Amino acid sequence: MSWKILINDGMEESGVNALKSLGFEVDTQKIPQEDLPHKLQEYHGIIVRSATKVRKELIDVCPGLKFIARGGVGMDNIDVSYARDKGIAVINTPAASSRSVAELAMAHLLSTTRGLQDANRQFSGGDQFSALKKKWSSCSEIQNKTLLLLGFGRIGSELAKMATAMGMHVIVNDPFVEKANLKIKLGFQEVDIELPMVSREEGLTKADYVSLHAPFTGSALLGKNEFAIMKKGCFVINTSRGENIDEDALLHALDAGIVSAAGLDVFQNEPHIKEALIQHPKICTSAHIGASTMEAQERIAGELVEKINELFKSKSL
Ligand code: NAD
Repeated sequence: MSWKILINDGMEESGVNALKSLGFEVDTQKIPQEDLPHKLQEYHGIIVRSATKVRKELIDVCPGLKFIARGGVGMDNIDVSYARDKGIAVINTPAASSRSVAELAMAHLLSTTRGLQDANRQFSGGDQFSALKKKWSSCSEIQNKTLLLLGFGRIGSELAKMATAMGMHVIVNDPFVEKANLKIKLGFQEVDIELPMVSREEGLTKADYVSLHAPFTGSALLGKNEFAIMKKGCFVINTSRGENIDEDALLHALDAGIVSAAGLDVFQNEPHIKEALIQHPKICTSAHIGASTMEAQERIAGELVEKINELFKSKSL
């Protein structure tokens, strides 16, 4: 007997078709969260992104569930250990979107450096054009500037490759990494480099740019104390988790001129974003779209199909 699978937060069409061609019965019509306890009982597996919550209470009423799959990285919406303790496989696709997120971080880095967030909001011809030209006429290049990475995993190391190739000096703080080694492709050559590792405090006093690439583990990586020791005029980029930055402390640091500008893809209380962040001329925003590229979505779908099929084969042995 094959498995019946519910895809509740959408999936690339190529992935849906691949599951069907492997013989799985697939439903892609979204079932509202409140109806899941009743409806999910018919399924052997559920595929979600971040919207659908698969909590303990839901798991308890679905004894036939064989797997929970998350297209993407963070599994904050799933009670992972509870499910695994009940023998339900929980899978995700941690590496599929790293390049896309790193490219978005680089986009924020370049945008904030040249004030594009403000230029785009204010843009107009006539007097406003001249005023904007004057306002943003004394920006800097990123070449030879120091970029501190807080977190040197999949995304941090991808960004390090791009930033190094663009002439930035990358330094790394990651308490769980011993050496920050990198392989960079420069033209036809592949170069091995080792990036300097620093403490968070040392890094913050040296860096022109700070980019966050660590999970949220209960306390913000950048709060009042960290902004207090930062190099004046630093740029802050966050594509990790909103909770990694104390947003009130950031607003204060921006208004006090400690932080020149910030690029934010993630927020403390999504989707309820503080108006002061949305309106701020020194903040470049995006709506948690780090992994939202066609390439990442295709990789996510391909990886999930492969893992689900392997799981099915292993469980039917
Ligand atoms: P990863 O697990 O590969 O790397 C995270 C790194 O952070 C690890 O090397 C770990 O040692 C390090 N780390 C842990 N605690 C730290 C701390 N206190 N200080 C410094 N470093 C610390 O994860 P990843 O795939 O690179 O993802 C990084 C972040 O990006 C995660 O928060 C993830 O949820 C987020 N993310 C965001 C998007 C998006 O759409 N914006 C998409 C995917 C992932």
